[in-house]
Amino acid sequence: MRVACIELGGTKVVVAAGTGPDDLTDPVRIPTTDPNTTMAAIVTALEALMPFDAIGIASFGPLCLDTADPGGLRITNTPKPGWSQTKLVEPLARRFGVPVHLDTDVNGAALGEGCWGAAQGLRDFAYITVGTGIGVGLVVNGAPVHGLLHPEAGHLLVRRDPVKDPYTGHCPFHGDCLEGLACGPAIAARVGRPAEELPEDHPVWPLVGDYIGQLCASLLLVTAPRRIILGGGVGQRTGVRQVAAQAMRTYLAGYLDVPALRGEFILPPALGNRAGVLGALVIARRSRS
Ligand code: ADP
Ligand code: ZN
Repeated sequence: MRVACIELGGTKVVVAAGTGPDDLTDPVRIPTTDPNTTMAAIVTALEALMPFDAIGIASFGPLCLDTADPGGLRITNTPKPGWSQTKLVEPLARRFGVPVHLDTDVNGAALGEGCWGAAQGLRDFAYITVGTGIGVGLVVNGAPVHGLLHPEAGHLLVRRDPVKDPYTGHCPFHGDCLEGLACGPAIAARVGRPAEELPEDHPVWPLVGDYIGQLCASLLLVTAPRRIILGGGVGQRTGVRQVAAQAMRTYLAGYLDVPALRGEFILPPALGNRAGVLGALVIARRSRS
């Protein structure tokens, strides 16, 4: 089944088509500007890729994914200027007459890693990205999780020791939630330099790794993933992943006594910069009522 895939990010959109990673067309890149201009450019890109049997969109959020919601499948309230309440599915379904499936960028990345990357063959796993924000895609029993909303585990409340870490966090909603403490911009605000410029031995990394370890421990307790993939600019630092794995074990304190947790449980992603479009490809192939 040849499908069209759209990775809708906060700064750029990537559009491609294919049946899988081997025949995916060269990605068409479109800057994310206002919704009308961006959606028009997406339609033009899709027209050049016809024919296809379905469209998959992996989008930044927050998203309404409830097919019963009268407002349609859409971006809900986002700080991104102009994008709040933008319908993503209906305009494309009307124009192209094929099923259009939408999911979060992180659920897409998780699905892509599950098909071709670091979680191949697993039906229960989690994908975490720690970059500009913190997002978690959760696959449980082979399916990405959404319910009332979609998981927003980046905003999990974590334990912070104010002596070790006096930084009170930058989340506009929660202050020192996980994202408020550990995403790239929070690290930069805490130390006064961009996170990518900090050396491996900077004292902020053990703090960041500890907070991500708390997320991993919580995910294990809630959905029992068989593996956790840790991506994003911050998450892919080897030191951060190692501290997170150690902190996860410390917080679980031996309570979950399974051999898998003693081995390499937190892995880097394997799909690199193709994760977004390949995720959208899997989303396109999924039939959801
Ligand atoms: P995005 O989350 O926007 O999709 P990234 O995962 O690259 O993209 O995240 C960008 C954020 O991650 C920025 O805040 C940047 O400072 C930080 N970042 C990127 N690379 C690194 C790195 N090697 N080490 C630490 N922080 C990084
Ligand atoms: Zn928050």
